[in-house]
Amino acid sequence: MKIHEYQAKGLFKDYNIPVSDGILAVTPDEAKAHMETLGGRCAIKAQVHTGGRGKAGGIKLASTPDEGQQLASEILGMSIKENIVKKVWVEKAADIAKEAYLAITMDRSSKQVVFICSAEGGVDIEEVADKTPEKILKFYTKSLDFPADQAKEVAGKLFDDESTADAVLDVMEKLFKLTVEKDTTLSEINPLVLTNQGQVIALDGKVNFDDNALPRHPDMLELRDMDEENPAEIEAKEKGLSFVQLDGNIGCMVNGAGLAMGTMDMITLFGGKPANFLDVGGSSNPEKVVNAFNLILANPDVKVILVNIFGGITRCDDIAKGILESYNRIDINVPIVVRLCGTNEKEGLALLEGTDLIAAETLSDGVKKAVEIAN
Ligand code: GDP
Ligand code: MG
Repeated sequence: MKIHEYQAKGLFKDYNIPVSDGILAVTPDEAKAHMETLGGRCAIKAQVHTGGRGKAGGIKLASTPDEGQQLASEILGMSIKENIVKKVWVEKAADIAKEAYLAITMDRSSKQVVFICSAEGGVDIEEVADKTPEKILKFYTKSLDFPADQAKEVAGKLFDDESTADAVLDVMEKLFKLTVEKDTTLSEINPLVLTNQGQVIALDGKVNFDDNALPRHPDMLELRDMDEENPAEIEAKEKGLSFVQLDGNIGCMVNGAGLAMGTMDMITLFGGKPANFLDVGGSSNPEKVVNAFNLILANPDVKVILVNIFGGITRCDDIAKGILESYNRIDINVPIVVRLCGTNEKEGLALLEGTDLIAAETLSDGVKKAVEIAN
């Protein structure tokens, strides 16, 4: 689960990580009033669940409340990577001397938590990582205790200034505490700035939570902003389906996350593009199949649907019944390629005989047929 910058900063505040004062606004008039309250120059910052807001023109500095109102009216309603801006964070502007990067996330290959740090923070961190990877400093830990010794080696390098080392170390320790206590998959500060007054401040914040751990954090769940999430994905979650919208044209209905990934890989291998990831799960419930078809068909790009079922607990005849039921209940206007294999495969295939469905003997046969139709 993602949250907004202003919410991340609220969390930072709870953990005593220094942030500037700010107030949320949903109208230009509110932005003006907040600037009057805060006093002085302010940054007007678009609140959307995506990065690169600065480059997209979603972050502007205002000197007066009137200018803040004007800038807020330009930013509110703009679209940043397909996210419409509905709120702006009005924050006392920082007087920046240096911008650094600090993040704590999971390194899946080494199965450890990794601290990622760089003196070259700001809006182009991806380019830094790509072109000058030596400027990205990393250290790892498996422990739930803060790795103070490793952190000390890096802390003074972030602003290339040993006098800031203690302040940076303090931010690292608190960000790690937040990461562990709130089960985040990413806790990122970019930029972590040094001001001309010598303060170290988190000027941006990105915090992503581990969805599987959210039941332990009902208070964090309240930070969820449905407006920012894909409606199809929300619906899928409510219906117990694991669904991710993608930008291809071959709809996929598969049981099991691993098989779903494998199916998408094969589609790509044979020159096609999956329209979605969809795991219908391990149960044998025809209703789930109907829901899954509804989700897939809500995407106008879908030209063909590939159903790939490996029956274990899932019974192929239940899936077949679900497909037939879907034909009765919804208007399916694209071809469906079906590969059924495993438990009750014969019964399943028998049910589909004499229908418009395109049966596939093997997975590669099914994928080839689907790609041919899509292309
Ligand atoms: P992002 O583009 O979505 O990552 O948004 P950030 O919050 O990181 O802001 C992008 C850039 O805007 C920062 O790297 C700063 O250079 C600049 N910026 C943001 N807030 C302030 C501020 O208070 N003062 C100044 N001078 N620049 C700011
Ligand atoms: Mg940033």
